[in-house]
Amino acid sequence: MNTAKGFDLTGRTALVTGSSRGIGRAIALGLAEQGAVIALHGTKAGKALDEALAAAQKLAPKSVAVIGDLASGAAAQKIVTDAITALGQLDILVANASVQIRKPWAAVTQAEAEHQMQVNFHSTLRMIHAAAPGMQQRQWGRILTIGSVQQVRPHPDMIIYAASKSAQENMVRNLAKQLGPDGITVNNLAPGVILTDRNADALADEAYAERVRQVIPLRTFGEAGDCVGAALLLCSDAGRYITGVDLLVDGGMGLR
Ligand code: NAP
Repeated sequence: MNTAKGFDLTGRTALVTGSSRGIGRAIALGLAEQGAVIALHGTKAGKALDEALAAAQKLAPKSVAVIGDLASGAAAQKIVTDAITALGQLDILVANASVQIRKPWAAVTQAEAEHQMQVNFHSTLRMIHAAAPGMQQRQWGRILTIGSVQQVRPHPDMIIYAASKSAQENMVRNLAKQLGPDGITVNNLAPGVILTDRNADALADEAYAERVRQVIPLRTFGEAGDCVGAALLLCSDAGRYITGVDLLVDGGMGLR
C-alpha cells in the first residue's frame, strides 16, 4: 500500500446516520475500532442508541450521539451541525439511514412517495451540503452513501425506495467529480439482503426467504458486519484513489 495510514482512522471523526441499529451500527463500530471518534445517530433517544453509544465509547471514548428525523431537510442539516459541534470537525459522513415502505406500486400515496424521497435522497444531499465545506477546507473527506441492490434489481413492492437509491447513486457519481479536486471521495455501498430489524418480518416467512435465497449466488443472507470491510476501505486512506464507485455487498444478487 502506498499510504502510511492504510485503514487507520486515528484522529478522524465520523457521523454515521441510522447507527442505533443494523448496518449503520456495525459500520460505526468498525470505524471506531480503527480509531475514529463517532457521532452515532438515531431518530430518538432510547435503549438502542444508548447501547450503540456505549459500544462505540469502549472503542473511542469521545464518541457522542445525535438525534433527528431525516424527514426534513432542516433536520438533516442540524444533525450534521450537531455532530460538528460535538466532535469539533467532521471528516467522514456515512449517510446510512433510510425509510422503506413496502406496498404495491399503485397503492403508494403521494405522501409516502415524498417521505421516502425526502429521507433517502434530499436529506442525504442536505447533509453533504453541511458536511462538505469543512472537508474542502481541510482537503480531506470521505462521503459514503448506503444504497441498495435494488438500484439494479428493484423489488416490485418498493418502487419509490428503489428509485430513491438509484437517484442517490447518480448523485454520488456527480459529486465525486465535483468534490474530487478537494481531496474528498464520494462513494456508494449497496447492500443486498442483510439480516436486520427491517426485513425480519418478511424473512420470517420461510417460503419467501427460500425464494430470495435462490436469487443470491452465495445462497445466504448477509449480516450487518459483512458491510464493514467495504465501508472501511471507502472511508480510509486505503481507499484514497477510489471515488464515484457503487460497491455491491450482496452475495452476487445484483449480477445480471
Ligand atoms: P434498520 O435496521 O431498519 O435501521 C434503520 C436505522 O435508520 C435506525 O438507526 C433508525 O433509527 C434510522 N432511521 C429510520 N428512519 C429514520 C428517519 N426518518 N430519519 C433518521 N433516521 C432514521 O436498517 P438497516 O437494515 O440496517 O439498513 C441500513 C441501510 O442499508 C439503509 O439505507 C437501507 O436502505 C440499506 N439497505 C439495507 C438492506 C437490508 O437488507 N437490511 C438491504 C439494502 C440496503 P431508530 O433506531 O431511531 O429508528
